[in-house]
Amino acid sequence: MNYKLAVIPGDGIGPDIIREAKKVLNKVGEIYGHNFEYTDLLAGGAALDAEGIPLPQKTMDVCKESDSVLLGAVGGPKWDNLDGKMRPEQALLGLRRGLGLFANLRPAVLFNELKAACPLKDEIIGDDGLDIMCVRELTGGIYFGKRGTEGTKAFDTLEYSEEEVRRIAIRAFDIAMKRNKKVTSVDKANILDSSRLWRKVVDEVAKDYPEVSYEHMYVDNAAMQLIRYPKQFDVILTGNMFGDILSDEASMITGSIGMLPSASLGETGKGMYEPIHGSAPDIAGQNIANPIATILSVSMMLRYSFNLEKEADAVENAVKLVLEKGYRTKDICAGAPSIGTDEMGDLIVKELK
Ligand code: ATP
Ligand code: MG
Repeated sequence: MNYKLAVIPGDGIGPDIIREAKKVLNKVGEIYGHNFEYTDLLAGGAALDAEGIPLPQKTMDVCKESDSVLLGAVGGPKWDNLDGKMRPEQALLGLRRGLGLFANLRPAVLFNELKAACPLKDEIIGDDGLDIMCVRELTGGIYFGKRGTEGTKAFDTLEYSEEEVRRIAIRAFDIAMKRNKKVTSVDKANILDSSRLWRKVVDEVAKDYPEVSYEHMYVDNAAMQLIRYPKQFDVILTGNMFGDILSDEASMITGSIGMLPSASLGETGKGMYEPIHGSAPDIAGQNIANPIATILSVSMMLRYSFNLEKEADAVENAVKLVLEKGYRTKDICAGAPSIGTDEMGDLIVKELK
């Protein structure tokens, strides 16, 4: 098959890590007989420098025509004092909105080899690591509600429609069917009307998935349970703001920002895939950034946009094998000898089969 990919290297370490992700994709194509065709595009700071806006029309157009989008990272101190609509991060919001990407998938995976990086006690994690999937609603809720300032008061409103809740709930239950068939839906239904609607719709959706065990949990309790006993979670389904906070919390349990991928999906197969970390301007261009978060984002693209399960597993296994053999980039080496960005990419390519 031929797949058309829009590629946005972006700023800071973006180009360094995207280079390695392409190497991995090329090798996957070679082994499994696919052709990945790339169009490199500008967004964020790079686009501000070249064209004076964070998200050029051409970037948007090509992303819309492509099968999926792979993004490095955008932003950096150079553009920090620009205001509002001119900030590099506007490119991300514009792409999410323009491509209708309402579902944000953020796995928090702790590889057993990196257990030392986990801030929780050994007996909480055990010997089989940790594997949680946060499914966060991305284009509704309080971040998109009516807001304003009136004299000495300011307000933000939190609204969800049944349709918005239904489509994200269906996505979460579909993902649960491919995993361990467990969903925890997180809300604040003891206080918020929007959460009571959320619960009602999730209950309705759950009826279509009798094999999935599911529960509701208040967000304050969920924040606590993530630290007390994270292994009780498999898929966490939640709204925009709660998901923003909980997925950051979950990712830090794994202790390694350079390891975690993400996917943003819409109604169609098209998605946008990117590491959860930022552009790390402090280490840009030094060949020390960890490319694994981006390489695992490629694995998510293969799985969630192209239904290439074998290929996605192959990429994850290659990453595991390289970690098992003891290779580490600087951010995860805990003082031991480390390897460079390109070497990590090459080793993962070598383990692919
Ligand atoms: P953003 O505002 O875009 O979320 P940030 O400035 O909050 O970004 P990052 O850019 O993610 O944060 O960087 C936070 C720290 O983590 C920095 O010290 C950076 O060097 C480090 N870091 C981030 N990504 C990686 C990576 N892939 N490999 C190694 N270190 C990384
Ligand atoms: Mg930042």
